[in-house]
Amino acid sequence: MIEIACKKTKFTYNVYHITKAFFPDEEIVQKVDEKQESLVELKFPGGSCFSLAPGDIAGELAQDAGGRTGAQAAGDENAVQDAARLHGSEEDAVQAEKRAVTRRVYRFLCEESGRELAWGTLTGVRPTKLPMQMLEEGKTREEITGFLEKEYFVTPQKAELGYEIACREKALLEKLDCRGGFSLYAGIPFCPSVCSYCSFSSSPIGAWKDQVDRYLDALVKELRAIGRMAQGRYPDTVYIGGGTPTTLEPDQLRRLLTEITENFDLSHTVEFTVEAGRPDSITEEKLAVLREFPVTRISINPQTMQQKTLDLVGREHTVEDVCEAYAMARRMGFDNINMDLIAGLPGEDAADMADTLSRIEAMQPDSLTVHSLAIKRAAKFGQEGRTIDLRSEISQMVDAAAKSADRMGLKPYYLYRQKNIAGNFENVGYAKLDKAGIYNILIMEEKQTILAAGAGASTKVLLEKPIRTEKGKEIDLVHVENVKNITEYIDRIDEMIERKHRLGVTTMP
Ligand code: SF4
Repeated sequence: MIEIACKKTKFTYNVYHITKAFFPDEEIVQKVDEKQESLVELKFPGGSCFSLAPGDIAGELAQDAGGRTGAQAAGDENAVQDAARLHGSEEDAVQAEKRAVTRRVYRFLCEESGRELAWGTLTGVRPTKLPMQMLEEGKTREEITGFLEKEYFVTPQKAELGYEIACREKALLEKLDCRGGFSLYAGIPFCPSVCSYCSFSSSPIGAWKDQVDRYLDALVKELRAIGRMAQGRYPDTVYIGGGTPTTLEPDQLRRLLTEITENFDLSHTVEFTVEAGRPDSITEEKLAVLREFPVTRISINPQTMQQKTLDLVGREHTVEDVCEAYAMARRMGFDNINMDLIAGLPGEDAADMADTLSRIEAMQPDSLTVHSLAIKRAAKFGQEGRTIDLRSEISQMVDAAAKSADRMGLKPYYLYRQKNIAGNFENVGYAKLDKAGIYNILIMEEKQTILAAGAGASTKVLLEKPIRTEKGKEIDLVHVENVKNITEYIDRIDEMIERKHRLGVTTMP
């Protein structure tokens, strides 16, 4: 067990997550003790300790801000705050102080673990948000990569990747009216069967057959309400996800798509994605329904091309099903097909991933999204008993996927991470430059209002002007969540709609 004690609550989040990133399998307990002298203390099971005195960072902060030298900045807590204030506003000062503390903890953890993290102290789920912000402020490549390396200890390779992705995202988003428009999401929370590693709240369609029409009634009601709220605005992107939307019967799929086209003006829509997802849900009839509508992009997700793994994780489809669904979609004219893969599935090693990638390369999808299985979930599937080093194996898989994407002419265009992902790996979307999933970027960069319908769907409203939360934090995005439980969603649909009204969907900029 690792024990963390912080003098101030403001340090706890970063210190906890950076420690967890180094030691994902360790139990961590933490407390706040305003009376302790040091800013942060860490105690390890083996007996090693770390203690950060205020004077340790006061000088560093002052020097960073080009102010007084380290020697001039005395070693007490007031000196830390004085030095932090040299960084600008009160908020900038707090951020600079937190960064300085995290850097010191990071250096200690590097020594303790004998390794470094590719993304350094950036433990958040959106590591490209920072380079994106700096790009918008007109900063140069050298300034951005230099800042990431110096302030956050990001490796030069990842700093370049972050910069490269931010440039691509910016170029794609410039084609949209991010503030004036919005994106629409509709969720279908059913799948043919539930995969053992699933982190979404999906339900097997077989058990819900009788309820699907009732679910669609509620979904349609919500979509119509959103259509009224967003009147006079155009969706830039539409995304039907889940779950697996193609678990719907052809008539149900047609009903949903008809409602969307009738309630929203799609004349400005640059992307309309239907996440077909599981190959065992795809039929010629369903793809033909999609072709009746302005659907521009679909996903057919193998996750792996190893039959033994598909069987093990309960996907109930074959490798051949993937190839057949893909070939059928191509024949029917779909010219933008994404495929998802997962690195670190139970029982898989780098050789399995290499084989999967060679099969994917033979198919040549327009985009490829590579996820890493979160370490906690991997452990749940008995991975801990394996003799291979899972972190190093996933690392090889992720590298191989990047090379494979490059061979297919696909460039990285979006990136996100999950908390507790093994070795702090990222999930990366690669695409041909004109086939990138714009909705994915909008979700990651939080640049646009997303109006979302369906069980568990999360609406994000970008406000006209930032507001202050009760804790004094300035935010310009508010979330409105729908309940996840399907029956509750159906029964409480009016409340879901009312929540959007209350939280200012109509006050979008
Ligand atoms: S197909 Fe995706 S959403 Fe459905 S159960 Fe599997 S992992 Fe979950």
